[in-house]
Amino acid sequence: MHPETSVKLMKVVNSIRELNQILAVIRENGGQIGFVPTMGALHEGHLSLVRESVRENDVNVVSIFVNPTQFNDKNDLVSYPRTLEADCRLLEAEGCDIVFAPSEEEMYPEPDTRVFNLGRVAEVMEGAFRPGHFNGVAQVVSKLFDIVQPDAAYFGEKDFQQIAVIREMVRQLGYTLRIVACPILREPDGLAMSSRNVRLTPSQRQNAPVIARTLKESTTFVPGKSVEEVKAHVIETINREPEMKVEYFEIVDGNTLESIRDWSETQFPVGCITVFCGPVRLIDNIKY
Ligand code: AMP
Repeated sequence: MHPETSVKLMKVVNSIRELNQILAVIRENGGQIGFVPTMGALHEGHLSLVRESVRENDVNVVSIFVNPTQFNDKNDLVSYPRTLEADCRLLEAEGCDIVFAPSEEEMYPEPDTRVFNLGRVAEVMEGAFRPGHFNGVAQVVSKLFDIVQPDAAYFGEKDFQQIAVIREMVRQLGYTLRIVACPILREPDGLAMSSRNVRLTPSQRQNAPVIARTLKESTTFVPGKSVEEVKAHVIETINREPEMKVEYFEIVDGNTLESIRDWSETQFPVGCITVFCGPVRLIDNIKY
């Protein structure tokens, strides 16, 4: 690698202009740029994406931006944890080169009125329960891709549907970057790591692992039990736990995200779930 393709100390950049200047030099020198978009409040799940990006690229950029346009619930936006300083310390320790932490004005000097048509993958599940969410995700991720122009971008499979939506956006807009899907990181008790977990009360936190536990258990019922029976079992088991309410649980074809009725309909069945644990909305998924 050319020496000028490496950035020695981690830089925290707030302006698009400054980021452009830094990345232009890296690109001119043939440096491969890896990119991890996040909303901050970083945990091991995020850091696993960063590690993969650091491993595969010459320069790694992590964005930290709580994107208002993807929040359909104002309370969720207001209560979303913001921990920029601690995030930067974690990222520096992982060998991250550049943190891009823009203000809302920097990202949206004027309202983003673009409407994406991302087809069925954006309409089902999260698309149905969080109107406008994926349009906001497409707005911010396309802006970030335009700013960073990465060679590869890293996303977590915890947001399984989000990856399908991003792939569709990339296809439609003709981006040439590589989308890398990284496995879900979990707490020792199985709970999928999430920035929202810190909002759980101690008793909610104690009950929340029922989600992952039940999903895992449900894989042992396949193909003996029908799709309908597995769905009913998962929903009933989780709903029995205090303060837990399943919003939806769908078993889908992992490529099209269409619900299946019979295991024979796909080689790649995935169970996607959203559960309210008190007021906190948790998501998870499992491959069968
Ligand atoms: P967020 O900050 O929640 O927007 O997440 C930023 C990225 O980290 C997304 O690609 C998420 O899918 C990913 N991510 C969040 N939690 C996890 C996890 N537990 N395991 C793996 N990736 C995760």
